[in-house]
Amino acid sequence: MTLELKRSQLYIDGEFVDPSSNEWFGSVDPYTGEEWVQIPAGTADDVDSAVCAAHDAVFDPDSEWARCSPTDRGRYLDDLANALAERAEMHAEMDVRDNGKPIREMAGQHAAIPEYYRFYAGLADKIRGATISPDDPTKRVFTNREPIGVVGAITPWNSPLMLAAWKVGPALAAGNAVVLKPDEKTSTSALAFAEVVDSIGLPDGVINVVSGYGTEAGQALVRHDLVDKVSFTGGTETGAIIAEEAGKHLKPTSMELGGKSPNIVFADANLDNAVNGALNGIFRSVGQSCSAGSRLLLHEDIFDEFVEELRTLADEIDLGDPKDPATEMGPIASREQFEKVSKYVDLGLESGATLVYGGEPPEVDMGSDLFFQPTIFAHVDNGSRIAQEEIFGPVLSVIEFESETEAIRIANDTEYGLSAAVWTEDIRRAHRVAERIRAGRVWINNYRNSGVTAPQGGYKGSGWGLENGIEAVEEYLKTKTVWLELDETTENTFRSN
Ligand code: NAD
Repeated sequence: MTLELKRSQLYIDGEFVDPSSNEWFGSVDPYTGEEWVQIPAGTADDVDSAVCAAHDAVFDPDSEWARCSPTDRGRYLDDLANALAERAEMHAEMDVRDNGKPIREMAGQHAAIPEYYRFYAGLADKIRGATISPDDPTKRVFTNREPIGVVGAITPWNSPLMLAAWKVGPALAAGNAVVLKPDEKTSTSALAFAEVVDSIGLPDGVINVVSGYGTEAGQALVRHDLVDKVSFTGGTETGAIIAEEAGKHLKPTSMELGGKSPNIVFADANLDNAVNGALNGIFRSVGQSCSAGSRLLLHEDIFDEFVEELRTLADEIDLGDPKDPATEMGPIASREQFEKVSKYVDLGLESGATLVYGGEPPEVDMGSDLFFQPTIFAHVDNGSRIAQEEIFGPVLSVIEFESETEAIRIANDTEYGLSAAVWTEDIRRAHRVAERIRAGRVWINNYRNSGVTAPQGGYKGSGWGLENGIEAVEEYLKTKTVWLELDETTENTFRSN
């Protein structure tokens, strides 16, 4: 399938429409530097139309979606999965052109996306309330599980359609409607996703896609009175702004935010595996991954040997055109992100850390000036900015520790708590450390495993709420308690004496 989208449209209430601003902005391919598709600049008015359509889809008693059986909701999700599988290759190419991640990674990600919809297709008819026995035998109590209503889903640029799937799948399984606001830099696949939605005949208004700037379309979505829940994935600073805004409107939120994940290697670990895990942990996706293992904690006995091996392996990583399946690291996604990475390398040098590898763009002409070498700093102080702040690029901070207690203390000494890993052959130590780390996901002797069946979420500054697993559906449900009277008569409590 070839790329056809050139000037895309918003998808609102089952229709493809131009933005009310009549304005589009270019999405830049970070490898070629060219604008390759025009993205509609959705406005607050467009958001309003989408939210009203979504509201009607869930709450109008005559709407097709409100009357849709759980089994049929599951069928729609299955259809979505099948249609996405057919277009996986095209969507992967779109994301590569928008964010420059290597096709070898994005192809795998898009091949997996249908499984996320299939999982929630299977859950749609398994949502249950409870029957409760009250003390009073003349009463019966039960609970209904109901959709929250309209979900405002706001996603970032690093894994555009996968992160949308984590929200849309469980939200629809629970009977909600969604207004999806993709990141302005990477909206192409989300707008193409609208075509998939349209092709399966999902009732109008159930999924709407409104692209646009965060401070315009995104903010309007968070503020809209008829949005019942905001599900956000993105940076911690933006998350704080959105949580504050949502709080003013008393809206519940889910927050999947940034990370500064510790990857801890003890001296008794299988070091060949651990070094591969460290490399995958930081340099996959050019380091632009929320769960990147950006702080490598090494026991002092293996420090020098391990860093040397990492340096050797980093030197073997193939940088190049992200559309080439042989490429292991593409360019950084945007000029803004490139500047951020460069700034942190300067901060690392100023902090007195030892630059072991990289630290600048490659010497050879890569065809784009957004490439950056995999970069390794050793002897990093955990209090320094390169160890504390999320760089979201290919920069690794290596920190030395002496004891298990010190490793745990350093690992937890961060505002974040998204992921962590521990490498050791001692099963007791592995469990001890995993339990004491304050992070939503801990890997033992591996890095980066994830899948739809297992929930994940952040601790501390990495957010709250869960995505994936059965648990994610709970994020999109409300519980209504119903009291039923068995007695034939209702007493007048004012005349009882
Ligand atoms: P970002 O916070 O800049 O933007 C994310 C989204 O928020 C975009 O759609 C943007 O348009 C929108 N937005 C911006 N300002 C807004 C506002 N005031 N109101 C409403 N919406 C607004 O994040 P990013 O740079 O695109 O993504 C990178 C970040 O995302 C990193 O911090 C990364 O760790 C995080 N992330 C987290 C997870 C996770 O699962 N925890 C997954 C992927 C990425």
